[in-house]
Amino acid sequence: MSARRPVHLDPRSPLVLDTRELGRRPGSMRHVRRTVDAPADWALGLVRVPAGADVELDFRLEAVMEGVLVTGTADAPLAAECGRCLEPTTDRLTVDVQDLFGYERSPDDPEAPILDGDLLDLTGLLRDAVLLALPLNPVCSDDCPGLCPGCGGKLADLGPDHSHDTLDPRWAALGTLAPDRSPSTPSMQES
Ligand SMILES: [Zn+2]
Ligand SMILES: [Zn+2]
Repeated sequence: MSARRPVHLDPRSPLVLDTRELGRRPGSMRHVRRTVDAPADWALGLVRVPAGADVELDFRLEAVMEGVLVTGTADAPLAAECGRCLEPTTDRLTVDVQDLFGYERSPDDPEAPILDGDLLDLTGLLRDAVLLALPLNPVCSDDCPGLCPGCGGKLADLGPDHSHDTLDPRWAALGTLAPDRSPSTPSMQES
């Protein structure tokens, strides 16, 4: 009747769980295991859970006095670009989540999640947990040497003997302007 009535959840959505079996009896419990497609917005900077990738959910739903307590894990593949050498790299991410979905909207915490009838929606809970857990600075390996500042090549491929003989152009210009004051082997320590 009210114009502010929320849009109802779609029980067929993979991130919507049905709590009807719990019967709102405190202490009753249900396990949910399912594989869902990763949404497209689990991404931040160089790292993402590829859209459509398999996400393994393992959840426990437990009825308590005020609502349904949701506890569980989501396990998903990660794809990233190495922050040092920019090569594609992969990893896995497992996040733990827990939240209470209230039967009624709490006046103390109007933002807290609530049930829609018997249904609850994991979308926001999972997204927040995944985005918080994404590594900010992914690397292909802990000892990735990165890129050569001289030529931009991958130092891991170029080998330990790789170097550039050319002088820093600023030093080269100085040498031309004041040849008698310029040291024969300029080094950065003199700047
Ligand atoms: Zn790397
Ligand atoms: Zn180089």
